[in-house]
Amino acid sequence: PLAAKDGLVPGRVRVAVRLRPRNTEELVADADFADCVELQPELKRLKLRKNNWESETYEFDEVLTEFASQKRVYEVVAKPVVESVLEGYNGTVMAYGQTGTGKTFTLGKLGEEDTAARGIMVRAMEDILADTCPSTDSVSVSYLQLYMETIQDLLCPGNDNIAIIEDPKSGDVSIPAATVVDIRDQSSFLELLRLGEAHRFAANTKLNTESSRSHAILMVHVNRSIMGRHCEGGFSTQNGQASSLVKSLRPPIVRKSKLVVVDLAGSERIDKSGSEGHTLEEAKSINLSLTALGKCINSLAENSAHVPFRDSKLTRLLRDSFGGTARTSLVVTIGPSPRHRGETSSTIMFGQRAM
Ligand code: ADP
Ligand code: MG
Repeated sequence: PLAAKDGLVPGRVRVAVRLRPRNTEELVADADFADCVELQPELKRLKLRKNNWESETYEFDEVLTEFASQKRVYEVVAKPVVESVLEGYNGTVMAYGQTGTGKTFTLGKLGEEDTAARGIMVRAMEDILADTCPSTDSVSVSYLQLYMETIQDLLCPGNDNIAIIEDPKSGDVSIPAATVVDIRDQSSFLELLRLGEAHRFAANTKLNTESSRSHAILMVHVNRSIMGRHCEGGFSTQNGQASSLVKSLRPPIVRKSKLVVVDLAGSERIDKSGSEGHTLEEAKSINLSLTALGKCINSLAENSAHVPFRDSKLTRLLRDSFGGTARTSLVVTIGPSPRHRGETSSTIMFGQRAM
């Protein structure tokens, strides 16, 4: 059952790199300069320019150019994880990169005006809803923000500083105080994402910070009754009697799994933008979570017996959906601008260390 699925192997992080197109400003201001990277998607290679003559070559599990559609990105980065979640395994999809390189575009884009623009969260829910059966399965979500090592409930403003509970035996992670909302259709999910985004904006305005400084975490819980699919033919659970009869004959077995989608805080070195009014404490704690994540990713890649999950809230929260039997996919996002070559290089190295 733990067979590789499109190169997605339990206990290993699958890493894709995605380049965003030049924005208007970069098209104008950097018109005379070449992009800092050159992609060879068929070879799954990326070349990072050192200067006009030399470049360094890196390989990834997937290389997504500025022309890659949102659909393709979903299929490459998230779909295999979603499929294994539907089969009962936990999974994580994360985006890492400098602010402005397309993490939220990749994961959180709602695409209300243009469905082709929909991001990973919306497409994942679409696949999950299509594969589950409302009468026997349940799909529910929590939406959280992790800022300075505290967790805020994006579905219930004021519900701050939520605890993470780990079951010492099973290693399962739960966040009992977080709001959990049942999802029955895509429109209620979109509504929820909009609400979460509005609360995130309000919370960050109050804290006088930017959303790029915090991690946004969507958790999708899938509980499936694996005692037959009652939707097509057979027993109808609309009929209360039939379903209670079925239940009394054989208790339903519920298989639980979850998908965690993490829009990580901007990976830029914070001290560089020291004029933006955030405190040193903030800088330290963002670095803490991202550094801890990097360490966990590295120890997974090295097959190390000890993965230091306990070092931060972010890694504690991911403990049961990361490594072990879980499937993990990371997309590192980069921009083309030669001005950000340094940041781009460090993002590429983060992705490389995960492989
Ligand atoms: P981040 O979340 O990493 O800070 P965003 O997702 O907010 O970055 O993207 C920054 C800007 O670039 C947004 O205006 C977004 O719409 C645009 N953008 C990002 N990636 C792409 C892409 N692949 N194609 C077109 N526009 C993009
Ligand atoms: Mg963002």
